[in-house]
Amino acid sequence: MGRVFRCNLHMHTCLSPCAELDMHPSSLVKGSLAQGLDVIAVCDHNASENVQYVLKAARGTGLVVIPGMELCTREEVHLVAVFEHLEELESLQEKVYDQLEGVNNEDAFGIQAIVNEAGEVEGFNEHLLIGATGISLDRAVDLIHSLGGLAIASHIDRTAFGLLGQLGFVPPDVPFDALEVSASLGIHQARQRYPELRGYQFITSSDAHFIGDIGRASTRMFLEGPAFEEIRLALSRQMGRYVLE
Ligand SMILES: [Zn+2]
Ligand SMILES: [Zn+2]
Repeated sequence: MGRVFRCNLHMHTCLSPCAELDMHPSSLVKGSLAQGLDVIAVCDHNASENVQYVLKAARGTGLVVIPGMELCTREEVHLVAVFEHLEELESLQEKVYDQLEGVNNEDAFGIQAIVNEAGEVEGFNEHLLIGATGISLDRAVDLIHSLGGLAIASHIDRTAFGLLGQLGFVPPDVPFDALEVSASLGIHQARQRYPELRGYQFITSSDAHFIGDIGRASTRMFLEGPAFEEIRLALSRQMGRYVLE
């Protein structure tokens, strides 16, 4: 028996330099539950060290946490990568760090805190997470797929780091699993604005960097249960699973 689940497949933690420090794992879980979310994906900029702690913080709460990352490609396009297992995300992480240059400047870009499920600081990420990797968009999507993940172009309508803003079009030969539209636009309006993209599945997410933004958007999906493989089916409209628009 399926039902509708509220999924937010793109939110940040305090590991992202541009996110507030209060976005630590347990407050992220509490905030998501308070907003009635069933599934969240944790997607920090080019990094994933806090995912393990969000998974721990969510244990026993009923909230399903999907391991993810928001990768910045060589073209400065943001791409959400989500996986069923933490190990797959960690494999992507290795490749991302191989292709990410520079050291963070906390004063200029912000603190990149690794915080555990009890709210204790475990350390600070030294990489320049705000930067672009050397991985091209098509290679990034291939890499995510080879690891079993889903590749979703982030906030395509946004001028900064969005696919349409950066490239001006959706490259037809790149097999995105979905295109995310900004919370402020929403799926309904996006369908009217981009009729040429009717062949793509749209989702929307809060892309929250602040506690107050956690619930500002989510995507409703009809699933048999709140699980990664169910979301894969919904994005490709298979076996009776689908995204409600
Ligand atoms: Zn982004
Ligand atoms: Zn983001």
